[in-house]
Amino acid sequence: MLIGAIADDLTGATDLGVNLTREGLSVIQANGVPDHDLPPADAVIVALKSRTIPPDDAVAQSLAWLRERGAERIYFKYCSTFDSTPRGNIGPVTEALQEALGAGIVPTTPAYPRTERTVYRGHLFVGDLLLSQTGMRHHPLTPMTDANLVTLLGAQARGRVGLVAFDAVHAGTAAVRARLAALEHQGFRHAIVDAVDDRHLEAAALAFAELPLCAGGAGLGVGLARALRAAPKVSNDAWARPDTVPATAWLFGSCSEATRRQLESARSQDGGVCLRLDPLALAADPGHAARIAAQAAQNVGSRPVIVYATAGPKDIAAAQSALGAARVAILVENAFRTVARSLVAAGARAFIVAGGETAGAVVDALGVHALAIGPEIDPGVPWTRALSGPPLWLALKSGNFGSDEFFMRATRGL
Ligand code: ADP
Repeated sequence: MLIGAIADDLTGATDLGVNLTREGLSVIQANGVPDHDLPPADAVIVALKSRTIPPDDAVAQSLAWLRERGAERIYFKYCSTFDSTPRGNIGPVTEALQEALGAGIVPTTPAYPRTERTVYRGHLFVGDLLLSQTGMRHHPLTPMTDANLVTLLGAQARGRVGLVAFDAVHAGTAAVRARLAALEHQGFRHAIVDAVDDRHLEAAALAFAELPLCAGGAGLGVGLARALRAAPKVSNDAWARPDTVPATAWLFGSCSEATRRQLESARSQDGGVCLRLDPLALAADPGHAARIAAQAAQNVGSRPVIVYATAGPKDIAAAQSALGAARVAILVENAFRTVARSLVAAGARAFIVAGGETAGAVVDALGVHALAIGPEIDPGVPWTRALSGPPLWLALKSGNFGSDEFFMRATRGL
């Protein structure tokens, strides 16, 4: 196995998966620590839900599983918008892996130029804006109010955080290697890496492929895959399309700006039923989720069923101040679990889900333990096929990803 990856959420894992597939690697994604063997692949990505919960045994178990199966290097994949709180989990997970592997300095970069995430002088930009100027500042679980990655990671990590700045990356692999060695010599344990286009990531990854551990977004994953171009590969044919057009559900759990636009666009279609999961209603009435789930199930058919919790900053704030952020998240995610189970029981076979945590809850509820990566719908979002449980096709979209027409495109493209 050329790359053993651990991703801090599910949509992040599929994002990495489709990028590695595009670079010619065979990829299997496991949802949680695998409890059985998976088809052989050049890269196995273990998706954890470590973004918002403490790094625990799951990280150690995933690492052990990947190493037992011969992973030649470990990649810790996190979100290209560096989604995390002041306590983590990007720093703590990186350090847990670093310690277990006995690794030296860990290069790390969320840069993902394909989706306009670039890093310059240690600052993360999304398009023309600093991260802290984007809608990410209103994220319900991981609001991002700073864009300086050295500071952000520094607050979460025990080890010191340095910078491999643009001049080194621009100068190429040897300069990156030299800068990394110098930082390590000075006692730094992490190095944020500047990159504004794929060439920077490729040059840097040639140096990082020699290390036991590096970390970042899907962009650096692409760099790593390119650095391993000449390595021998294994093939698998785990992906397949459905034979007939499946009954489809569109589930919106993210509150990101892209998802809100996608919901508006989906609702304006001549679609099927559109049902709302309101956190305040879920808290007030324990039977609410089951009723929405039953309504959704009744409407499974030729048109996609829409279920959404997606809301704007005002509604999020109202729900969170009444119930607390953690309780809101649990209520909403549990409601999506109930809805997803009842949709499958009613015959739904294709799910398009917006939101990393939301997607994690849905695949968990459906007992989907592993996924084969299929064709890309929009940058970073593929169709996937469940390798366990009922026959299911899933498109799991990070909240920020996808064009406004994503849900319609995805449905047409299966
Ligand atoms: P993203 O990919 O955008 O980060 P996630 O699904 O990971 O999306 O996170 C979105 C979080 O917002 C989830 O925990 C979800 O439960 C929560 N959420 C969804 N709808 C609401 C709402 N109306 N009010 C408050 N929080 C919400």
